[in-house]
Amino acid sequence: MRLDGKIALVTGSSRGIGAAIARRLGREGAAVAVHGRDRDTLGAVARSLRDEGIRVLETLGDVTRAADLERMRQVIEGELGLPDILVANAGANLTRPGMPLEEIDEADWRASVDANLTATFLTLRTFIPGMKRRGGGSIVTLSSAAARRPELRSPVAYAAAKAGIELLTRQLAVQLGPSGIRVNCIAPETILTERNLERIPPDVRQQLVAAHPVRRLGTPEDVASAALHLVSDESGWVSGVVLDVAGGSVLV
Ligand code: NDP
Repeated sequence: MRLDGKIALVTGSSRGIGAAIARRLGREGAAVAVHGRDRDTLGAVARSLRDEGIRVLETLGDVTRAADLERMRQVIEGELGLPDILVANAGANLTRPGMPLEEIDEADWRASVDANLTATFLTLRTFIPGMKRRGGGSIVTLSSAAARRPELRSPVAYAAAKAGIELLTRQLAVQLGPSGIRVNCIAPETILTERNLERIPPDVRQQLVAAHPVRRLGTPEDVASAALHLVSDESGWVSGVVLDVAGGSVLV
């Protein structure tokens, strides 16, 4: 298996894309720390991974809080060891799409930056020293198609925060390459997570499909496949890239 002996943390893996990534990495042999804020949903994901024979550790915490991340780090390092795979997936789109900038509330702007850019910064800051001690590893961050091409319907604060994550990724690829740590970013278009399946009505889904050259919407497994590629040795000479998992709808 491609990730035998590896230790992975996937933030925001209590559902959606993160849960699919955690499952995929676990199926390839990694021991996986799953993470979220909701104990029940996290427990359900952990149980279903364990049922497949994956070694799983449950970690709870808010990734916008440095103290929570530090507690998580201590638990993970104590129970599993030093992670050499980090997928900083937790994030949230908290603003309404297509809102004119002048109408965005300052508190909402700050919440979006916190939930995405600052959360990613704090997560990386917490786990990079351990990866350096381990002698190398691979980091994947999560952007969004919203940050790849400005559109009238884009949620501006979320898009700006995700664009910040892309720059942070490239900057870190330069800083961490000499320590044997690769850093890449995935930018998905609309993914059919449980939440999006509930939220997007079938007629809107059809319209969205038509906007993708590959005529379907993405699945959490599409993103998980990309993440597996980026954390495995198959991509050993790839660092600092933003990979659009977008059915051909983002061409930059
Ligand atoms: P979901 O809303 O389905 O799940 C989000 C996960 O992140 C949950 O496990 C949630 O935990 C956790 N989480 C969110 N905020 C925090 C926080 N502050 N502290 C701790 N945990 C947190 O998200 P998706 O799977 O849809 O998205 C995953 C990533 O992909 C995000 O970064 C998102 O921006 C990005 N993305 C998603 C797209 C999509 O179409 N789904 C498209 C483009 C990008 P809990 O539920 O326990 O709070």
